[in-house]
Amino acid sequence: MESIVETIRGNVRLYKTLRKIYDIIKFGRGTLRDKKHFEERIKKISFFSEKLLDTSSKPDKNVILITVDCLRYDHLSSNGYPRETTPFLDSIKGYKAPLIATSPWTYPAIASVHTGFYPHNHGAILDGEDRKFDLSKLKPLKGSVLTLSEILALFGYATYFNSGIDLAVLCVRGRFYEQKLSSLTDAEHILNDLKDWIGKQKRNFFVHVHLKDLHEPITPPKKFYNYFGKVKKLHKIEYWGGFQKPEKQKGREFEEFKENKILLYDNTLKYVDYELEQFYAFLEDRGLTDNTILIITSDHGEEFWDHAELEAKFFHDVRGYAGVGHGHSVFNELIQVPMIMTGPGISSKKEKEKSVSGVDVAPTLLDLLGIQHNILFDGVNAFGAKRRLILSENTIHGHEKKALIYGKLKFVYSKGDGVAWTFNLENDPREQNPITDDELLEIFMEKLSRVTLRKELFWRVST
Ligand SMILES: [Zn+2]
Repeated sequence: MESIVETIRGNVRLYKTLRKIYDIIKFGRGTLRDKKHFEERIKKISFFSEKLLDTSSKPDKNVILITVDCLRYDHLSSNGYPRETTPFLDSIKGYKAPLIATSPWTYPAIASVHTGFYPHNHGAILDGEDRKFDLSKLKPLKGSVLTLSEILALFGYATYFNSGIDLAVLCVRGRFYEQKLSSLTDAEHILNDLKDWIGKQKRNFFVHVHLKDLHEPITPPKKFYNYFGKVKKLHKIEYWGGFQKPEKQKGREFEEFKENKILLYDNTLKYVDYELEQFYAFLEDRGLTDNTILIITSDHGEEFWDHAELEAKFFHDVRGYAGVGHGHSVFNELIQVPMIMTGPGISSKKEKEKSVSGVDVAPTLLDLLGIQHNILFDGVNAFGAKRRLILSENTIHGHEKKALIYGKLKFVYSKGDGVAWTFNLENDPREQNPITDDELLEIFMEKLSRVTLRKELFWRVST
């Protein structure tokens, strides 16, 4: 038995090594070209920057953006989850709100955080009608859209991005001076690399790290693997595999798999929370918390069969799956994530009723840094935002689905699937009882057509 375990561990180590070599060949080789591309863009942008930005602004705070892939809002203990998954995140003093991801998967959602635009405006989307995930169908971020890293580089900031997931960094490739892809690397190692990098900086910085730990395959370190209870070694428990097909989602074996899969996710979330605590202690030790804005959020959530039945019955999925993974629907387990913002100038507040959007991160940061601008973002300053329509879009695996949220009313629309539903989140927070109402449908369709209008972008860079 011992020797079998050792052999498996040996294979995992070998796989991780090969994956790192693959990243270096596939991604790392291009980073010099990316640096050049970045420098050239900054030169072009600086030529026109006075039209967009008050270049006499003097931002003097660092910004650290941490996105935890697949982090569901409702799995934080402070949001009512029964396991104490996130004592550190809960203890942070700052602004906390549910954030609606602009898309239920990484590529468009991260691009929105960096640009302040919805996917239909920033352009980093998966194209096509009946969608099947294929890297070659990914559209690049529009050259006419600026990223936070580019804006801050104009003000002399050093910029760095390290990601444990390829799609997070690919959507803004060439938009940071330093960027890395560290596939299958855990939070400890990514955050240690960031600490080393920060230790070398002599000027203000803007950094983004994207942690992959909650994304499949879920393999937290031994110390945390069984934190809230022993995870049974079930076939494919660390993966989405096992019970993706609707006809298999019943019976004792399925229930056991589901229970253990959620347990493994929660144990891993506790690990991520622990690593974030260590990282925050580093910032405190270095005296950086007084002049650093820290944002912790996610690109999207993760489904644990929350809507398997509705999905199987009403939505076409080219894979024949229902209820697992992400990217395929716009229900809240996939688009509602936490946002925590702390640092100088940020008062403590926990929003209970109001949601913010992924497009609000960029405009909020520019305001916090005192950078005046006339960029017509889709997002607004999260702190001052009134209740408004918030959009999520560009799903994968089937027909396009969109969600439009206004307070406790949520509209889910898929032309291809013939679905137009309203949910009242006040009395149906788990979105199990869709309402079909012609009057509401008409109102929402009109609002949707307004929110999804394409913006004439303000910026043109010949690329
Ligand atoms: Zn993701």
